[in-house]
Amino acid sequence: MQKPTPHITPSNAFKKAIEDLKTDFPGKSNSWIKRALLRLGDVKEVREDLYVVEGRRELGDWRPLYQVWWSSAEGRWLCTCYYTQFGLRRRRDICTHVAAVMLFRRYKRALERAERTTVYVAEAVVDCRGRISANGEAYVKPDADKIDLTFFASPRFRVLVISRQRRIAVRCGGYVVYEAEGEEVPLAVAKFLVAKFHESED
Ligand SMILES: [Zn+2]
Repeated sequence: MQKPTPHITPSNAFKKAIEDLKTDFPGKSNSWIKRALLRLGDVKEVREDLYVVEGRRELGDWRPLYQVWWSSAEGRWLCTCYYTQFGLRRRRDICTHVAAVMLFRRYKRALERAERTTVYVAEAVVDCRGRISANGEAYVKPDADKIDLTFFASPRFRVLVISRQRRIAVRCGGYVVYEAEGEEVPLAVAKFLVAKFHESED
């Protein structure tokens, strides 16, 4: 009987996405990127160049809605939070409403039908020669730069699990090889994570 050794990475899918996004938004902190991600489910497209983003008190918003629009004069996205109540411009750097819209546009197809329900996500690296499954949707890809003899000698996979249950278990050939509390995220964010997961596949 095969006895798989779990190789567990403490980093979860959310943390990894934050790392990936740091190249898109250089110089921004993890918490800034996390705020942009958490807003993904709040973005609504009005037109190609106009979006509304629902405000969230817990993210420091003081308006119920923010408008984000493309300014062809400035060649960039602008947000109502860039202006004071008297219409004065108060900031020049990018806000997380704009960042969420930029992410939404990039991952639009994956996010379009996303619901506002929450799910749990976890990511693990497991050594497994059998079938990988989980108590939810399991996305699996080889955890290797190339599929060579080394990989066949000890196949290792990266698994992203989206589950309705908080406690996430990954099985290899029926045996639990990874177990963890998933991170609670909006379904829209989970879909974004899946898109990211496949994106780095090549
Ligand atoms: Zn803003």
